[in-house]
Amino acid sequence: MSGINQPINTEDPEYYAELFCRTPRFANRRLPNDERSCPDFPGIQNVDGLLSRLQTILDGVADISLCQRGNVSATMACLKDDKDESARRYPQHLQTIFEMLRQVPYKPPAADGSPNVIANELEDYFVEISKAIHNYSFDIFAYRVSKREHKLSDIRGFLEQDRTHFTIEERSTLVNFLKNVHRIIMKVAKAQTTGQLSTTFIRMLLWMYSYWTQHDLLPKDSLADKKVKLLDRADAWLAEEHNIGFQLRRWALKIMSFLITADRLFILTHSHRLRQLLQGKFSVSVLTSPTTAPYCCDLSSKTIQVALNATMAETSYLPSDWDQKRESFIEWLSKKLEVSEVRQKPMVHAELAMIIAMAKGEIKDVLPYVGVSKLSCLMCSHYIRAFNEVTKQKIATKGSHGKAYPGWSWPSLPDSDEELRQAFLRRIRQQLLSDVEQHAEILRRLLDSSVGSGGPEWQIDRTIDEIEELSDMEA
Ligand SMILES: [Zn+2]
Repeated sequence: MSGINQPINTEDPEYYAELFCRTPRFANRRLPNDERSCPDFPGIQNVDGLLSRLQTILDGVADISLCQRGNVSATMACLKDDKDESARRYPQHLQTIFEMLRQVPYKPPAADGSPNVIANELEDYFVEISKAIHNYSFDIFAYRVSKREHKLSDIRGFLEQDRTHFTIEERSTLVNFLKNVHRIIMKVAKAQTTGQLSTTFIRMLLWMYSYWTQHDLLPKDSLADKKVKLLDRADAWLAEEHNIGFQLRRWALKIMSFLITADRLFILTHSHRLRQLLQGKFSVSVLTSPTTAPYCCDLSSKTIQVALNATMAETSYLPSDWDQKRESFIEWLSKKLEVSEVRQKPMVHAELAMIIAMAKGEIKDVLPYVGVSKLSCLMCSHYIRAFNEVTKQKIATKGSHGKAYPGWSWPSLPDSDEELRQAFLRRIRQQLLSDVEQHAEILRRLLDSSVGSGGPEWQIDRTIDEIEELSDMEA
């Protein structure tokens, strides 16, 4: 059958991925928290947020497993203390990171209940772990750092001309931030030949991050805090008055993403219970991507009509002015559609590959939580819900950003594939119905995940001069 593109229709889940990736979606359609909950976790009770920390760690392991841009990584963990002798592969990188984490000395929290601050002497340990993580993922880090480089001098120019929007102090903090970013860009560019960053560079990054959070540019727990910070205000101002098409806050978080993940893994070393896990045997097995067949998809007005009819046949709810809404939706959408789309290399997304491997018994005794290096897409999120409904399981991920991507591929589940497919189609058609209802609304800002660490935090108070001095040591 190779070389033949299988035609797919409105009874195929893939049809909806192709349709939805062309439907402007509401940003921040994060799924509610129940998707994150990780219940029925044998042998471990959720004491002191232990489960949410384990979930954070699984997400962190997925993050640091990336070494190539465009990849997505998913992780499930199995906790057991038996002597499992089955042959497993030990990817060296994760092994190294966990070995380094094991060597961090444990300092029990102060008995007087003072804030859980990581002792300064542990900074060296953190910097080394963080260096290993950055160097493994150097290409992605370098890409994230330099992505908006071309806009930097423009923004600095706008800021220096401003006399009214920010106070003198705020302006100086923002200029320092831009100088920091410029330094990072320069040093990463210099490191391109070797692909290796120095200890001094990582320490500089940590100090800069501490400066950014302590001077109110970013929230302290970067992904959880929704409070408006200085960078948000700068973003609003840049968008309104200077039409800058990206957000400084998002860029800043991208630049610091591996440092933030390193920080979250470092929590392991400072939780009494998680430390016990760290001392256990650690093994990793890598799954291969499921094979998929190329397909072609007809996205004409006619097929959208068929999909909507199927939706209405399954529901007793008839929206008011349905015919009008439907016509307007189809007309609006059909302007954006190619009639036929061919996908040569559809992909089973990482989290689904992992769930299928679990359902097939290829991975056993895992926690019902899939750590992923990014939020799940709309299709995967509906898949996981349908999977839980059909198999009576409670698999969770960190959430969904609500967007769909072309070339999404349905993973076949042995035994209950047809039942799952029907449950999935019911859900995805409800999604289509809600899109028809809301198609006139505008896109909103996409928010990042709200993974709260609740762990210890750095208390590094470095001045901008100290950061620059450190940075010059490397010049
Ligand atoms: Zn997905």
